[in-house]
Amino acid sequence: MVTLALSKGRILEESLPLLARAGILPAEDLGRTRRLIVGTNRPDVQLVVIRAADVPTYVRYGAADLGIAGKDVLCEDGGDGLYELADLGIAACRLMVAEPVAAAGGAGRQEWGRLRVATKYVRITERHFAAQGIQADIIHLYGSMELAPLVGLADRIVDLVSSGQTLAANGLRAVEHVLDVSARLVANRAAMKMKSAALRPIIASLAGERGI
Ligand code: ADP
Ligand code: MG
Repeated sequence: MVTLALSKGRILEESLPLLARAGILPAEDLGRTRRLIVGTNRPDVQLVVIRAADVPTYVRYGAADLGIAGKDVLCEDGGDGLYELADLGIAACRLMVAEPVAAAGGAGRQEWGRLRVATKYVRITERHFAAQGIQADIIHLYGSMELAPLVGLADRIVDLVSSGQTLAANGLRAVEHVLDVSARLVANRAAMKMKSAALRPIIASLAGERGI
């Protein structure tokens, strides 16, 4: 049996056409079912549908052989024990630093205070500011990062941006690029050796021309 871990949410919607093209059809409507393990039209392939940030963990421990996860999640995770096999070209967006339009490049910030940055991506954000020689206080949030600067919780945020509409609606604007993001196909390292014959055709049909 080959187990493929899918990220709930945005990536899932864009993964389904890709799976269909690879000839893998879920036995149930993934948007509706409460089941967490879903079979497919192929008796040798099953799907697990989990939080995006959990995909690297399932694949690392071999609970899933393959996974589809955003580059944001993979960078934050570190990717130990995983092979990144292909950029699937779906769920494209950018990880950006944003600040209130009113801050005008940080002028509104107290000179003596350390920069406070709210984000879900603690490790990436630490690395990003450290590379610029800035010691930022990272405030770890799980969602709605845009709120933090509006209520004085943080000076800036690091968050995913696609259209920029959410930022604009909250009086924020992107000021620095951190990372280009898209969904990647990843594999468990041991499974790539032990189950190579079963995995290779699935990888080839999912990755298509995009395989690394
Ligand atoms: P969660 O709330 O569990 O983080 P999301 O659906 O918001 O789930 O995000 C899951 C993944 O989808 C992210 O890790 C990222 O790779 C991708 N993603 C998130 N927001 C966008 C976006 N605006 N455009 C494209 N891809 C996105
Ligand atoms: Mg989200």
